[in-house]
Amino acid sequence: MAGEPQTDCLFCKIVSGDIPATIVRESATTVAFRDINPQAPTHVLVIPKVHYPDAASLAAAEPQIAADVLTEAGAVAADEKIDSTGYRVIFNTGSGAGQTVFHAHAHVLGGRGLQWPPG
Ligand code: AMP
Repeated sequence: MAGEPQTDCLFCKIVSGDIPATIVRESATTVAFRDINPQAPTHVLVIPKVHYPDAASLAAAEPQIAADVLTEAGAVAADEKIDSTGYRVIFNTGSGAGQTVFHAHAHVLGGRGLQWPPG
């Protein structure tokens, strides 16, 4: 069923606690944890607890939870004190754009200068 945990999904296993992660925030619908391969001093992933393969499919099926992911991304930035210096929220969508884990997630990046456009 749509949104149900997938047995082969790394991020579903982080939600269930079967794979450890450094969790920095949790809400009823989301989990935020540090990226294992950080690309900036702050690099946190915010994921919905439900399984959808990317941000667009999450937003189509569960718009409130997609909004929760964005709200939590902002809360992470405030917690990490990068909201005043500027930060970036990224949803890589599709392998051509660098998506490697097909469970919707927002990257929250900050703590250093960020170039535009991104590579
Ligand atoms: P993406 O390439 O946009 O799909 O992002 C997936 C992210 O998940 C990458 O930045 C990885 O470094 C990160 N990642 C992969 N495995 C783990 C893990 N076990 N714990 C935390 N982050 C992870």
